Amino acid sequence: MPGDALSQDPAELRRRIDSSKAHPARVYDVFLGGKDHYPADRAAAAAGLAANPRGYLDVRHNRDFLRRAVTELARQEGIRQFLDIGTGLPTAENVHQIAQRIAPESRVVYVDNDPVVLAHARALLTSGPEGRTDYIDADLKSPARILEQAAQTLDFDRPVALCLVAILHFVEDEEAYPIVRELVDALPAGSRLVLSHLTEDLNPENIRAVQRTYTERGFTFVLRSRKDVERFFTESGLELADPGVVPVHHWRPDHAAPVPEQPEASYLAGLDDIEK
Ligand code: SAH
Repeated sequence: MPGDALSQDPAELRRRIDSSKAHPARVYDVFLGGKDHYPADRAAAAAGLAANPRGYLDVRHNRDFLRRAVTELARQEGIRQFLDIGTGLPTAENVHQIAQRIAPESRVVYVDNDPVVLAHARALLTSGPEGRTDYIDADLKSPARILEQAAQTLDFDRPVALCLVAILHFVEDEEAYPIVRELVDALPAGSRLVLSHLTEDLNPENIRAVQRTYTERGFTFVLRSRKDVERFFTESGLELADPGVVPVHHWRPDHAAPVPEQPEASYLAGLDDIEK
């Protein structure tokens, strides 16, 4: 049943949330200027910022890429279904708010494996009456389970935009490429893949230092080059839409959010047409 994730026992949920350790979703939330974090997350964010002082800007650029991609897909391409894996903590503008403003009937399924996100998931289930949202408490490493549960809300005979935005750096190559392929294979013609990824192509010293702050805390943190990011598309049999994989803020800028003259980004982004 959609919404089942939220019926989880609160005691069990509290047990899963370890506030003494940094959680990536909460660290990201610190960077976004949110309020749902603990001292361990703030310490991790501070270490990340010491390594890359433009971290705040990078994360906002990444989030703004997601907004532009969803806006374009909803407005220009008539996409009405989104599968957003690695959702992060709710912010002011989540995928369903962006999509449903353009097309109220839009359906969005959110997926994250962090119990902190699950604890806040109610804020993601605020669909307008014509659309639907659901939240799945699952790991990207279980794509079959995600697809099965998402099918309760999404119609896999109609196009779906799969959003893998700033999540794949948490997964090693051996798993990451086959997982993306499995997810893409389940989507019908006319679907889209929206992807962003941390890279060391731009700003390498700072980003490698950021990587160390994560690996020291026990997280997998894989930086990928533009070629590596392109591989997610090519190995899944996809052709990249214009302008290809580029620094996030160069991806079809709409200037609704200001971009400084010459920012060096840390994220690469791309979007593709899934035609079969
Ligand atoms: N997509 C959002 C948030 C990125 S932060 C954005 O770009 O703004 C990365 C998110 O991915 C975090 O919420 C983290 O909990 C989630 N995540 C990391 N590894 C995951 C995994 N293996 N399965 C599911 N979610 C994961």
